[in-house]
Parts: sequence; C-alpha cells; structure tokens
Amino acid sequence: MKARGWNAPDLRKRNRAGILNLVHSTRNIARNDLALELGLTRASVTILVNELIDEGLLEEAGTQIAEGRVGRRKIALRIRPEAGRIIGVGIDQERVQVLLTDLAGSVLGVRDLPPPATLARYGDEPAERIVHAVAEATGELLGPASPCKAGVLWMGVGVTGRVDAEHGISVREPRLWNGPVSLADPLALHFGVPTSVDNNVRALALAELLLTEARGSEPAGLLFVKYGPGVGASWTVGGVPWAGAHNRSGELGHTVVAAEGPVCPYCGRVGCLESLVSARTLGIRLARPRSKIEELCHALLEIAPEEFAQLASWFALALGNAIELYDPTTVALYGAPFRSGPLFDEIADRVESNERPCEIKRSNLDPELPALGGAALALERFFLAGGPKPC
Ligand SMILES: [Zn+2]
Repeated sequence: MKARGWNAPDLRKRNRAGILNLVHSTRNIARNDLALELGLTRASVTILVNELIDEGLLEEAGTQIAEGRVGRRKIALRIRPEAGRIIGVGIDQERVQVLLTDLAGSVLGVRDLPPPATLARYGDEPAERIVHAVAEATGELLGPASPCKAGVLWMGVGVTGRVDAEHGISVREPRLWNGPVSLADPLALHFGVPTSVDNNVRALALAELLLTEARGSEPAGLLFVKYGPGVGASWTVGGVPWAGAHNRSGELGHTVVAAEGPVCPYCGRVGCLESLVSARTLGIRLARPRSKIEELCHALLEIAPEEFAQLASWFALALGNAIELYDPTTVALYGAPFRSGPLFDEIADRVESNERPCEIKRSNLDPELPALGGAALALERFFLAGGPKPC
C-alpha cells in the first residue's frame, strides 16, 4: 500500500468520522472521553462536536456522573436518531428486501419484493429491475417525496455472490444474473443518494457489529457464518470485513469437508460444505425442493437423525478449519436453522477446540431481515465519510 499524507479537510473528515463512530458504538459518551479515546485535544473535540450538534447529527443526552470524582458531572452525547434515514437493501435468490432505519439503526419499515429473476415487469436489464423494485418499495416506505427530500442520507446494498465493493459491482452471481452487474451507480443516479454495495454476508457481519449488542464491545476478530440457502462467511478484523485480494474471501461453504458428494453447481468441486448441506441438496434428498432451510433441517432430524448428525459434523469440520486459520475472538452463526432446534448445539459441541479462547454463539440478527446488512453498510459509510450534509 502506498503511503499517503493527510491534508486539513481529510483530517477534519477523519476526526468527524472517529467521533460519530465512537458516539454510535458507545451510545453516549462525554466530550472528555471522546478526546481521550481519539487522542485529540479537548478543544478540537469541542469544535467538531459543536459543528455536529449544529448540523443536527449529535445531541446532548443529559448528564452522567464521572467515575472516581465525587459530584463531578459530564454531559453525554448521542447520535440524534431522527437526524436522517438510511435505506438498506438485501438481494438474494429468495427476495429483494428494502428496509428503512433511522440514524441509530432502528427499523422504521420493511418491504419484501420477489427475487430479481421474477421482476421482469420492471425491465430486461438486472440493474433496471433492481432500481425500479427499490423505487417501488421506497415509495411505499417514504411516501411521494424523493428519498433525498425525505432525509435519506445513504443507501447500502448487500447482494449474494462476489462483489467489487469499491466500484459497487456484482462481479459474479450466476444464481441471480449472467455476468457482472453495476448496482451502485444506477441506484445513486436514480435516487440522488450516495450508495454503497457489498457482499451480503460481509454486510451482515457489519450489522452484527454495528446494530446488535456487540456494538460497544466489538470483538477483535469476528468470524460471521451464514447458513441458508447456501453457506457464506465473513472475516472481520477490528470491525472491518476483509474482502480478499479478489473479492472472494469467506467462501467457507466451498471448502472441502468430504471425499464424496454431489458436484457443487457454484464451485464445481465435490465434497464442499455447501454441496452437502445447502437447501438445494437437502430439498432433493427430502423431495421438498421449495422448502426453507430451517424446515429442511427439522425434517432431516425427524426422518434421518444420523444424516442430521453428519450435517452437523461437516459444518463443525469447516468451522474448526476456519478457527485454526483465523484465530477469532467470536464465531457468530446466523440463519433461521440456528434460532431454534438442536442444530446450533450439535455443531458447537462438535467443533474441535484446542483449548482455544473462542466463543461460538448465535448471531443477534433477525434472519428475516437480511437487508439489515445493507443498512449497516450505509451507516458505516456515512460515518466514515464524516457525516456529510444531505443532498
Ligand atoms: Zn462449492
């Protein structure tokens, strides 16, 4: 990486980003503590905080008693939730989901639309279909005003498959469309709102860090694993998901865990985890091709408990390998099959642990809200940009 200097506007933006991030993650924090945490002078923090209060992004949230000093009170700051809105979009084989949140990440409304392949009424081109589907949903969520006029500050999109996040392009996703599809530019152009796009699992890992109780006690290394309909993962270090040199990091589902099995339609290998445990594979096995992954797991446990145990063993093997590679603080398992039933415990019990101080837990995210990933991505980018003024 090339060394690059910082000029004054860069520094200001960077320091505003630091303040917004810290206020968001702690939920409320006083000016002195901000200065201490960010290594800035109290005067610099005061100038930037006053600026952010004037712009309506921050507000004073009452007083708190300072630790260790009797009677000393300090004024806590928090993000003003109603200062703006965020649009999150989730695109996968099952649906296009559009969700509206406030600046604190609270969900204000959700709309589910059919998957891209069935959105022919919106046009022939994939990007055209997505733009018009999102427009229909935001029209219902925001009313007649344009997103820009309705206070939307940023839009984030999580989409399955390989994504070039820097350019906002879905590079490879044969399950949704043929060839690369540019998404960020057409959406930003249509709505007049800055738009970021990333892989859906990387975006959901961000949501785990920014929108759940993990916020404020961010694990140093989080391995986030999604199950249903396939298997995906994201590795985050210090709160930043690593995309890989070719945007293909986290393909836990396509690591090989068995010598035999069906040929994987995505990676072409035999014995990769996804080829053995995906909804497609279980649907064929159980002659229930359209069932959801949690129903299939439940049915497998009822009909063939030894196959259910084998599924948990394959999953545990892949997780054990990933833990050896990454040495995470926390492994979060996301998806409806982990919310109820014995699958989570069956897998966690089988992961070979070499006295490793690594927590395996259920994700705190609701699997029915995949667009939360897009919302977290938008929030992160808005903060990173220093909280720029709306259009
Ligand atoms: Zn595969």
